[in-house]
Amino acid sequence: MPSNESKLTVVGAGLVGSLLALYLARRGHTVEVLERRADMRRETLDAGRSINLAISTRGLHALRQVGLEEEALKHAIPMRGRVIHPVKGELAFQPYGKDDSQHINSLSRGWLNKFLMTQAEATGRVSIRFQQRVTRADPAAGALTVLDEATGETREVRDAVVFGTDGSGSAVRQALQSQAGSQSDSETLGHGYKELTIPPGEGGRFQMEKHALHIWPRGTYMLIALPNEDGSFTCTLFLPWEGPVSFASLQTPAALEAFFQEQFPDAKALIPGLVEEFFSRPTGHMVTVKCAPWHAGERTLLLGDAAHAIVPFYGQGMNCGFEDCVVLDALLAKQPDFGQAFREFERLRKTNADAIADMAVENFIEMRDSTADPRFLLEKGVEKV
Ligand code: FAD
Repeated sequence: MPSNESKLTVVGAGLVGSLLALYLARRGHTVEVLERRADMRRETLDAGRSINLAISTRGLHALRQVGLEEEALKHAIPMRGRVIHPVKGELAFQPYGKDDSQHINSLSRGWLNKFLMTQAEATGRVSIRFQQRVTRADPAAGALTVLDEATGETREVRDAVVFGTDGSGSAVRQALQSQAGSQSDSETLGHGYKELTIPPGEGGRFQMEKHALHIWPRGTYMLIALPNEDGSFTCTLFLPWEGPVSFASLQTPAALEAFFQEQFPDAKALIPGLVEEFFSRPTGHMVTVKCAPWHAGERTLLLGDAAHAIVPFYGQGMNCGFEDCVVLDALLAKQPDFGQAFREFERLRKTNADAIADMAVENFIEMRDSTADPRFLLEKGVEKV
């Protein structure tokens, strides 16, 4: 049976794995984190993969518990509501709450991930090993096969307590699912996404309202934009994969430019690299994963996207994963038996995770469609910008 002295292995040093390692270290454990990518503090991040994200109360609460909220907020831009961009006509502002205290925050994903890794290492109990890809897991035994991508060598980890925070395509989850009685439902959205940039204006000024999430709702598709610290905005275009207006229909620069001119004329004027970025950057997939169980005895537990990947339209994937860390930490504080804590964790979190997964899909329809509906605007007390 694993004890306080057991080897704890976190698979994946993404947002959730890095924060989890920090939480476990503060509880006195020594933690090894295995990350398949190179150290992003030394290498440049790939452009076009979710550059910024919205952190809300849930996520901030998780950072507050480990004393990191204040520093994170220094790098965040409060977004007090949505600015709706119609094809023609005036912009409309939909506040998120009755006053400015009710807002979400735009934060750089890369900055936050690096910050969390550094803070985890600073405890002196966490070592993050990069270019270490887990290729096989035996969840009940706490065993892993790890490929060192730098040397090509393979090694075995045995008798560990394994935390699978290796994201929506989790290798640890796949191993758990091969066990009898497990269930998994993975649904890929019929839309993909592409990131585009509105650079800062002269003197680093923001070229649109800074304190807002911008939305261009267009029915079956939409464009959104979140502000960045340097005065730029990262736009995300959500489009169906196939159909009359889709990634499949936008195959040439001329088709893309004509589409933007017709549907997003104000955004087009602000995205000088439209053609280059659209055709060179990857197109992202979005998936909802609902699975069970999330744990194998007292040896393996899934958290974050590995347990419950959701589509990004509620801006709650990371927030929900951060809340996982808070809940698990509280359970381990009450009783250090990993088996009981893991069972209770799944009981407490699974219903919530399934609910937010459904709400995120529903919010896609609200964002791309209803936000432009005059009745919706009336209900929400919309102001002109
Ligand atoms: P990940 O961030 O995917 O990290 C997993 C880590 O595991 C990675 O570092 C990966 O390299 C590593 N890994 C994977 N496989 C292995 C392996 N076999 N061995 C070793 N390491 C491995 N959430 C929000 O809360 N707010 C938002 O505004 C928001 N916006 C989003 C916008 C977009 C376009 C997308 C796609 C997602 C958005 N999300 C948002 C969701 C959020 O990105 C995820 O919920 C969050 O990244 C989950 O963190 P994670 O650590 O569980 O997984």
